[in-house]
Amino acid sequence: MQIFISRVFRTNTLTALRFVPGDQLSRCISSLDDLESGDVVLMCEVMEEATYVRHHKKKIAFILSAMRHFAEGLKEDGVNVDYIRLDDPENTGSFAGELKRAVARHGPDRVIVTHPGEWRVFEDMKKWEADLGIPVEIRVDSRFFATPKDFRQFAKGRKELRMEWFYRDMRRKTGLLMDGDKPAGGAWNFDKENRKSLPENVKLPDPPVFESDETTREVIRLVDSRFDGHMGEAQGMNFPVTRDEALTALDHFIETCLPSFGDYQDAMKEGAPFLFHSLLSAPLNAGLLCPEEICRKAEDAWRGGRAPINAVEGFIRQILGWREYVRGIYWLKMPDYRKGNFFGAKRDLPWFYWSGETDMACMAAAICETWENAYAHHIQRLMVTGNFALLAGIDPAQVEEWYLAVYADAYEWVELPNTHGMALFADGGLMASKPYAASGNYIDRMSDYCADCRYSAKSKDPESLCPFNALYWDFMARNRDKLEGNPRLGMVYRTFDRMDEARVDMLRKRAREFLDALE
Ligand SMILES: Cc1cc2nc3c(=O)[nH]c(=O)nc-3n(C[C@H](O)[C@H](O)[C@H](O)COP(=O)(O)OP(=O)(O)OC[C@H]3O[C@@H](n4cnc5c(N)ncnc54)[C@H](O)[C@@H]3O)c2cc1C
Ligand code: SF4
Repeated sequence: MQIFISRVFRTNTLTALRFVPGDQLSRCISSLDDLESGDVVLMCEVMEEATYVRHHKKKIAFILSAMRHFAEGLKEDGVNVDYIRLDDPENTGSFAGELKRAVARHGPDRVIVTHPGEWRVFEDMKKWEADLGIPVEIRVDSRFFATPKDFRQFAKGRKELRMEWFYRDMRRKTGLLMDGDKPAGGAWNFDKENRKSLPENVKLPDPPVFESDETTREVIRLVDSRFDGHMGEAQGMNFPVTRDEALTALDHFIETCLPSFGDYQDAMKEGAPFLFHSLLSAPLNAGLLCPEEICRKAEDAWRGGRAPINAVEGFIRQILGWREYVRGIYWLKMPDYRKGNFFGAKRDLPWFYWSGETDMACMAAAICETWENAYAHHIQRLMVTGNFALLAGIDPAQVEEWYLAVYADAYEWVELPNTHGMALFADGGLMASKPYAASGNYIDRMSDYCADCRYSAKSKDPESLCPFNALYWDFMARNRDKLEGNPRLGMVYRTFDRMDEARVDMLRKRAREFLDALE
């Protein structure tokens, strides 16, 4: 088999079949480099992709609408696009099946694709050449700052991987937020300034509204008719579905939200699902925006005096640092990565993750907003739903499936390291130096959820005790052998050992009762 994991430029008169899946909707995707007039671009909507987990209806509507708009744009520019719709009667339902049919229709001499985002698709792709009987050229996905090979190089010989070192290398490599060889603003990281809770009187920006056109309305009708039983509603999908809309979303963020992004990055508020977050992950991961243009615009805002350094550095770190880092981990460690289960967690995912029906106000808010928007911001994902799953010992595979299904930006390369590694510590510390476990006091400090909750983060009374408080100490106690040696948890265990024995017994008893009730 002939797989070129590189960019290849060639000219000839034979037809190439260029395959563009729904997360590569970018004119500068490497599979479209050197596009010739006789070539055919194949795009297909297939059930296999739409149902390998039960994706949120807004996620499916977003991707199908963005695909259809992208294909229309190519056609308007004279590109020969072969577009297979989900409801096409001949649709085989899989990429492999659609490629086979397209090869029979067009008789190309080769297939050109960009490296897929997910391991599952890559495994399938490696069989295409034998199945199709023509060469399949797999090109590097050049939208990212670092290739999997660059990351392997970074990881080589290191005892532990930490995002901060990778991020600094990326700053040096790209020149982003650099003044010569020094970090701009005098420091690599302004995270300490980025942990404020939200004051009462802060005015929150409204996200931009993207009116549905007929293409989107048609997709919404299709999703309603074909994806019954998936989470949420397709109606009301408000993600940008074209490059122009995505650029509008980016400009809106830079001008309206970025200045306060850093200060309130970790804050949470009842009834405010978006705060100052960018909401750019869905269009970015689908290819409508490129990470470099986002980071450059953010840097320009700082250099132009329109946003402070703590906001701009904090934001760029998410994209240049975390996003690239999790992708590096994914391709470095798959396929075994997902098998780890450091704490041996095996409890089933509680039903309220799908319905939001729980008395815990913070969980209800994060889940109901997810149901409504196919979106939750990072702190809700990490410190509310992720933290609960960690403390309650929920089976990582079930948690991962939930995150992959419910968010419009979720693809396994980015979802899995975030869930398995960051939120659940199921990889035993490859991604994070300690578990992101927190009691209700953290949620109380960073949000206003506790004010209207049936439980209280401050209560010592067993009846109204916050479940996060009971579960936190129970988690620390039952995993002591695995965590006690972690230098970052020394203080936690010293506090634990100073706690009154009767209180520890009460907390652990409440945790057991709460967990039993989940079943
Ligand atoms: C358990 C869990 C699961 C997650 N699953 C996904 C997922 O499936 N897809 C996804 O894109 N992000 C995921 N994230 C990361 C992060 O929560 C989302 O990228 C972010 O909430 C998207 O909202 P936003 O665009 O408003 O981000 P902002 O807060 O505005 O951040 C800016 C951008 O930085 C990037 N970013 C920030 N944090 C991360 C991170 N940890 N990893 C990767 N990129 C990051 C995103 O592209 C995001 O658009 C997950 C985080 C956790 C804790
Ligand atoms: S009291 Fe506990 S369960 Fe209720 S909102 Fe606060 S942290 Fe969540």
